[in-house]
Amino acid sequence: MSTSDELNSYPHVAILPSSGMGHLMPFLRLAATLVQRHCRVTLITINPTASVPESQVISRLFSTYPQITEKQFHLLPFDPTSAISVDPLYLQWEAIRSSSHLLAPILSSMSPSLSALVLDVTLTSSVLPVTTSLGIPNYVFFTSSARMYYFCESFPTYVASRSSSGSVQFDSFIEIPGLSPIPISSIPPALKNLNHLFSTTFIQNGQNLAKSNGIIINSFEALEDILHEVNGKRAGDGLQPIYSIGPLLPCQFEKTEYSGAVKWLDEQLEGSVVYVCFGSRSALSSEQIKELGDGLVRSGNRFLWVVKAKKVDEDEESLDNLLGHELTERIKNHGLVTTEWVNQQEILNHKGIGGIVTHGGWNSLMEAVWHGLPMLVWPQTGDQKINAEVIERSGLGMWVRSWGWGWGAEQVVKGQDFGEKIKELMENNQLRQQARNIGEEARKAVGVGGSSERMLKELIEDWKKNISRI
Ligand code: UDP
Repeated sequence: MSTSDELNSYPHVAILPSSGMGHLMPFLRLAATLVQRHCRVTLITINPTASVPESQVISRLFSTYPQITEKQFHLLPFDPTSAISVDPLYLQWEAIRSSSHLLAPILSSMSPSLSALVLDVTLTSSVLPVTTSLGIPNYVFFTSSARMYYFCESFPTYVASRSSSGSVQFDSFIEIPGLSPIPISSIPPALKNLNHLFSTTFIQNGQNLAKSNGIIINSFEALEDILHEVNGKRAGDGLQPIYSIGPLLPCQFEKTEYSGAVKWLDEQLEGSVVYVCFGSRSALSSEQIKELGDGLVRSGNRFLWVVKAKKVDEDEESLDNLLGHELTERIKNHGLVTTEWVNQQEILNHKGIGGIVTHGGWNSLMEAVWHGLPMLVWPQTGDQKINAEVIERSGLGMWVRSWGWGWGAEQVVKGQDFGEKIKELMENNQLRQQARNIGEEARKAVGVGGSSERMLKELIEDWKKNISRI
């Protein structure tokens, strides 16, 4: 085979992420993973991006992998008052969705022609008609747990079966074949209002998942046994598997300069520090921030705490304003607090870290799983309670169901409660051992012959069938 024949035997895949670091990061890791597997990759970048950290990480990807082609997708002006939501991220998703028709000329002009478009689940119902009309195979990358995926896929049918005279009668548990019952209190809060922008698009996207050519998930069989069961059944029915290819690994492009946080960690004892971060956009009230700070000091542990008080990815508020003078003084000898964007992968990889307090965003959970760290999950919104159930069931994390903040009921969790739970997190040997075990399972899954590695190979083989030979 000549070199050009060999090059032509690899698929050309376009990647279309949505906005928000929790949606963008796994797509960029997927892009890097595919390049390492010799695929030709085109990344479609949303213009404008939703935040500075998004623009920065995209630039780092392109400078690390110059072989990835960029196609810019310029959004049409969007009137936010036309949507029933004020959440900046949901509005950005809606802006992308309403510009989706502009993707047609971008996709059809790509050369060589595409073997697949991998798109974010939030764009499913608006982008599928475009790819279908162009005859481009589409694969939905679902950036949350498999448990959440099956909930998303089943929710439209559930709603239809419980609707009468324009309203929905929710049961106290949602029963989905193959899954343990999902308490109604665990579903994303916005879904209880079916007129909410999040609900209407969630249902439209859920209805369209079955029409896509394939589903990709950043999870693995040893963590979520539902994947093993469902894929066994799909194989029996002659269907493609759900491609669970996780955990997607930290990549070269994420490396940043030696930061203050890492310097501080270098001075701490091994496994002594609890890392506290609630993702890219989970904002706490100033009262709740102070209680958490109090709890961290009470726990008696060293801590590295990323504070966010706004629903965007970067904060302007000064720490003194957020914490107040008295708490700032108490914290000084115990931990490091920052409002800046940190390189979470680098931090979790540090030997000083012994546990994590997280909101339950799927990326943060998978990153902690990869590093074999025990977790205290404190879900704030969206898919986070459903994800917390996965972590609790697999025995590497705890979740206090009665902690109300962030789930509609804005009940402040007290410092004393945090202090006790964080102490327990850092002292619980069983949790720590199970976290190590699952971390090893994660390594096996992506290692040669592991479940995720096999799925990734199958996925690429599937795309190879779509290579058009000119
Ligand atoms: N993250 C980071 N630094 C921060 C905050 C977040 O690197 O200061 C990364 C984190 O490692 C993860 C992503 O941003 O990859 C957040 O995704 P996740 O699904 O955990 O939560 P979301 O932000 O979507 O709620």
